[in-house]
Amino acid sequence: MSGDRTADLVNRDLRHLWHPFTQHSVWADDEPLVIDRAEGMYLYDTDGKAYLDGVSSLWVTVHGHRVPEIDAAVRAQLDRLDHATFLGLTHEPGIELAELLLATAPAGLNRVFYAGDGSSAVEAALKMAFQAQAQRGENRPLFVHVAEGYHGDTLGAVSVGGIELFHSTYRPILLETRAVSSPGLLEPGQTRTDRAAAVLAELDALLDAEGDRVCAVVIEPLVQAAGGMLTHHASFVRGVRAACDRSGALMVVDEVATGIGRTGRMWAVEHAGVSPDLLTCGKGLTGGYLPLSAVLAREDVYAAFLAAPAAARTFFHGHSYTANPLCCAAAIANLRLMAERETVAHAARVGERIGELMKGLEGYDGVREIRRIGTMTGIEVEAVGERTGFAVCQAARKQGVWVRPLGDVVVLMPPLAIGDEDLALLCSVVDESVRAVVR
Ligand code: PMP
Repeated sequence: MSGDRTADLVNRDLRHLWHPFTQHSVWADDEPLVIDRAEGMYLYDTDGKAYLDGVSSLWVTVHGHRVPEIDAAVRAQLDRLDHATFLGLTHEPGIELAELLLATAPAGLNRVFYAGDGSSAVEAALKMAFQAQAQRGENRPLFVHVAEGYHGDTLGAVSVGGIELFHSTYRPILLETRAVSSPGLLEPGQTRTDRAAAVLAELDALLDAEGDRVCAVVIEPLVQAAGGMLTHHASFVRGVRAACDRSGALMVVDEVATGIGRTGRMWAVEHAGVSPDLLTCGKGLTGGYLPLSAVLAREDVYAAFLAAPAAARTFFHGHSYTANPLCCAAAIANLRLMAERETVAHAARVGERIGELMKGLEGYDGVREIRRIGTMTGIEVEAVGERTGFAVCQAARKQGVWVRPLGDVVVLMPPLAIGDEDLALLCSVVDESVRAVVR
């Protein structure tokens, strides 16, 4: 019976759907999994088979799936207020979430602007930065970003992206930008500190030449996630802060992937001890339940938008579903649980444990490098065919573990709250799968 249902759903999917980041010429042959339900750390397909969610459903899940406290918060919110626009109205879930979020935020960040997905938060941050500069009398049309960076798929976010495979197609229709090299891609013999210093020197040269035209420098702090979990030294983040202060550019840190505890700190910039002018977050904000993102801003950036209505200094930006109360309710419940259960400290321990459990693979011939910070792990394997990373993930899937690669980097990013047993299973299955595929 369930086999029939699965086949029927797959056929209907193939007839009408277009999936994100999916090559449909091979999608059917890859035997799509149809997910039916979820519980804790596991997804269940329509045939009843369980899969450990090894990538937190694309890096979003915090406490697991169908967490009673978050379920209850969303249900209670449903009984009170489904939605009301945030354009000219306000509501308690939106207010309370802002307070909770700012209580955790890096020093100086004092304003919350809500958006939908990570990309839309980045989009808002770029426009905010440009408009704030303009309203301070500065003409700064240029954005500086980092090679191998990724900030989402809308055009502003793509403009500051640096992954050729994803972004080069669109160059003719993008914003004016300059890129510095990736601080996470080391040259032979280079240490991470050397590399950070070399890229900072590039940034300084760029700002010397064009600094008065630079609106903002946009970075992913500590790890370029979609670029392949490329980690860099915290001194890079500190250097970017100093360079921005010198040149008058705003520092925008995109914590959509790294924020909400992923790196073993609430925010990745905490590892560097600096505060940005604008910070974007999303993904884990609602615990992995609903789309909600935010830009956290310094008060002086916000103040650049204050004037009489006729002065047209308003931030003319927002969405139909900005600050949707159901999303806010999920996020409030998530952040409260994180505080109660000390989830960030747990995530730091999970990270250490992943490091230990992956030790055996580190010396393995087919593994080029294992990069890791907190619960974010990338295992770069030698290519032995066209889709080696994918083949490793398919092997893991056969053993009930769901992971998704970035090219030939196998990504492990379990829910922050994962327990010892599930973590051991995740690591041992991935270890075996790498050895089975990359001999
Ligand atoms: N910024 C970063 C650093 C990301 O990793 C991502 C998504 N992987 C985004 C932005 C875009 O977020 P979303 O997919 O929610 O639009």
